[in-house]
Amino acid sequence: MSDTVSGPGAGAASATGTDPEAAGEFRERVRTWLAENLTGEFAALRGLGGPGREHEAFDERLAWERHLAAAGWTCVGWPVEHGGRGASLTEQVIFHEEYARADAPAKVSHLGQELLGPTLIAFGTPEQQRRFLPPIVSVDELWCQGYSEPGAGSDLAAVSTTAHRDGDEWVLHGQKVWTSLAHVADWCFVLARTEPGSHRHRGLSYLLVPMDQDGVEVRPIRQLTGTSEFNEVFFDGARTRADLVVGEPGEGWKVAMGTLGFERGVATLGQQVGFRRELRALTDLARRTGAADDPAVAERLARSWTGLEVMRAHALRTLGDTAPGVAEVSKLVWATWHRELGELAMLVRGAAGMVATDDLDEWQRLFLFSRADTIYGGSNEIQRNIIAERVLGLPREKR
Ligand SMILES: Cc1cc2nc3c(=O)[nH]c(=O)nc-3n(C[C@H](O)[C@H](O)[C@H](O)COP(=O)(O)OP(=O)(O)OC[C@H]3O[C@@H](n4cnc5c(N)ncnc54)[C@H](O)[C@@H]3O)c2cc1C
Repeated sequence: MSDTVSGPGAGAASATGTDPEAAGEFRERVRTWLAENLTGEFAALRGLGGPGREHEAFDERLAWERHLAAAGWTCVGWPVEHGGRGASLTEQVIFHEEYARADAPAKVSHLGQELLGPTLIAFGTPEQQRRFLPPIVSVDELWCQGYSEPGAGSDLAAVSTTAHRDGDEWVLHGQKVWTSLAHVADWCFVLARTEPGSHRHRGLSYLLVPMDQDGVEVRPIRQLTGTSEFNEVFFDGARTRADLVVGEPGEGWKVAMGTLGFERGVATLGQQVGFRRELRALTDLARRTGAADDPAVAERLARSWTGLEVMRAHALRTLGDTAPGVAEVSKLVWATWHRELGELAMLVRGAAGMVATDDLDEWQRLFLFSRADTIYGGSNEIQRNIIAERVLGLPREKR
């Protein structure tokens, strides 16, 4: 089966703004550019980076991304006036698919490109857009996301980090946790309580805070995989300018939810190209080692393949669909599928998979890191709660 949007089920393509011929031309342009540019010093970066592997060739991947930027291949879906290409939904999917198919390295700037940038385009002032969008496009400034706290993860409205005004600045106190890439970020978008005594969703503000200052301390957290790509971030009198609040002060919840809505948009179809490659490699491994002779393993591999086809059909059918439940179903399905692939990889590896020498092999890393898939971006339980309440109309959870 084709794994492109111009393949079967691509009714989505016509519904999302590009006719098949133009889509084919766009695909050819992306493919050619990547083939001609993932060469020389960049050739060695193929397949590097990504969740659980952010430490791999970080500086080199940053250089690659600036190379992409110089040719106009970052932020492809942003409007032209904000430095993007104004690519249609179909073209964006094509870009992500071809990027994944070329095995191009994982992006180091995705939090700025996929989360903060679209948020500023939707909610930011013209001054904020002028100041912050160009360095995201050129990959000169990296961002991190300061939402979660020790007492506020799934229950994000429990945020207790505070910010108060001191003259023409905000002053922050509090702790964030699980802050991905904070150790390399120049800026953090922070959800903080700016109205003392306010409760839950009210009285929060969405602040843009520079990371390189005395009041910010970043402490790496060592993960199950042995690497550190997320961190604790402590604000102890950290400062940012009064005008660096996105949306109205006290109404940060709306902006914060807007950001979450951008998480994993069209990139999902590109992600599935990577999933397909992993499943293919695991199937080959099972064949080579004889693990596939075990009917239980063969059955699980077939089930995994089926799951991927269903996931793909769902993604194509719902491209651009913002109806309640669509994003939650997608997150639930891909995260659970990927976690199960990690478990299947351990089954295929057998007893040898339980032994790690100096470094983890790709299957051990997949097994361990895919445990996180069903947690970040909203855990499976939270996705089901949202579906129960907003789609099925079941009673709201008691707090
Ligand atoms: C790899 C990774 C990267 C991350 N990066 C970032 C980042 O850059 N910035 C950031 O702000 N955060 C980040 N996070 C944090 C992530 O958003 C939280 O881990 C997630 O929201 C869950 O919150 P928690 O860890 O506090 O767990 P809790 O909210 O304490 O949940 C613990 C368990 O209880 C379940 N649970 C909680 N509430 C309910 C409920 N109401 N009903 C049923 N079950 C429930 C959860 O599903 C989970 O299984 C990252 C997490 C991971 C794993």
